[in-house]
Amino acid sequence: MSEKIRGLLDRIRAFMESDVYTLEQETSPKSFFSILPELEQKRMKVKEMGLWTPQVPEAWGGLGLSLAEFGQISEVLGRSPYGLFIFNCNAPDAGNIEVLISQGTEEQQERFLRPLLAGAIRSCFSMTEPEHAGSNPVEMSTTAVEVGDEYMINGHKWFTTAADGAAFAIVMAVTDPLAESPYARASQIIVPTDTPGFQRVRNISVMGEEGEGWMSHGEIVYENCRVPKSNLLGDQGAGFAVAQERLATGRIHHCMRWIGICERAFEMMCERAVTRRIGSAAPLATKQTIQNWIAESRADIDAS
Ligand SMILES: Cc1cc2nc3c(=O)[nH]c(=O)nc-3n(C[C@H](O)[C@H](O)[C@H](O)COP(=O)(O)OP(=O)(O)OC[C@H]3O[C@@H](n4cnc5c(N)ncnc54)[C@H](O)[C@@H]3O)c2cc1C
Repeated sequence: MSEKIRGLLDRIRAFMESDVYTLEQETSPKSFFSILPELEQKRMKVKEMGLWTPQVPEAWGGLGLSLAEFGQISEVLGRSPYGLFIFNCNAPDAGNIEVLISQGTEEQQERFLRPLLAGAIRSCFSMTEPEHAGSNPVEMSTTAVEVGDEYMINGHKWFTTAADGAAFAIVMAVTDPLAESPYARASQIIVPTDTPGFQRVRNISVMGEEGEGWMSHGEIVYENCRVPKSNLLGDQGAGFAVAQERLATGRIHHCMRWIGICERAFEMMCERAVTRRIGSAAPLATKQTIQNWIAESRADIDAS
C-alpha cells in the first residue's frame, strides 16, 4: 500500500469516527430526506478536506485513484451506509459519473456531469426489467424508437436505485432490434426525470424497507417518453458494452463496501460477546456456540 493511500485511509477512518458514526446514531431511525440537511453539512466538510469524489481523475476534481486504491477507500467508507454518499462516490452516481466522463459529449458533460460532480443533483441507472432475468441484460423489452430528432422510449424497469428525487436516469433500451449480435441491440440514453412519460410507480420494498430518496429502489414506467437524440450516451447499439464498463468497476466497489460493513458488524459482535454477562457472570464469549459463530463469520469475511 502506498504512503499516499495509507495517509488517506487514516484521514478517512478518523472522519468516519468523528463525523459519520455519530451522525448515524443520531439519525438512523429517520428517513433519507429528513437527514439530508445533516448529510449535506458533512458533504461540505469532505469538500473542505479535499476528499470529495475521490474516485474521479484529478482533471475532473477528484483524487485520481486507481481502481484498487478506490476499492480500499470503499471498504472504509462502506462501514457506514452513509459513508460513500457523504464522499460523493456512491452508487449509482459513481457509475454514471464514470460513464459520462468516458462517453459523454461536451453538452452532456456540461448539463449532467458537472452538477453530479458538484453533488448538486442525483441520478439513477435504469436497466433491469421485471419481465426478464436481470442477470442477462441482453434480454430486454424496453424500446427507444427514432422519431424525427428524438427517441421515444417505452418500457418497464425496476430496481432503479435512487430514482426517487433523481434529476435524470441513464436508461438502457433496445434501439436496434434486428442487429445480428444480441450485444449490439441496446443503447444508453439520458432521460431527465421531468420528461413527460417518465413515471416512478413506487419504491420497491427491499428486506421489508421501501426507503426513500437515495436510499430506495424504484419501479419506473416509460410511456412515450421522448428525448432528443443528442441524449444518446456513447454509440447507438453500444449500450451493452457501456453498461459493462460501469458494472465491472462497480462490482469491485460494491464488494469492498460490503466487506467494510461486515467487518464493522463483526467488531460489534465481538464487543458484545465479551461485554455481555450472562447468569454465571461469565461473558457470552465463553459459550462454545457463540465462539463457533464468531469463528465462522471471521472465516466467511476472510474468504471474501
Ligand atoms: C439492492 C439492489 C439494487 C439494484 N440497483 C439496480 C439499479 O440501480 N439499476 C438496475 O438496472 N438494476 C438494479 N438492480 C437489479 C440487479 O441488477 C438485478 O437484481 C440483478 O441483475 C439480478 O437480476 P434479477 O434480480 O432479475 O435475478 P435473476 O436474473 O432472475 O436471477 C435469479 C437467480 O438465478 C441465478 N441465475 C441467473 N442466471 C443464471 C445462470 N445462467 N445460471 C445459474 N444461475 C443463474 C441468479 O444468480 C439468481 O440467484 C438492483 C438490485 C438490487 C437487489
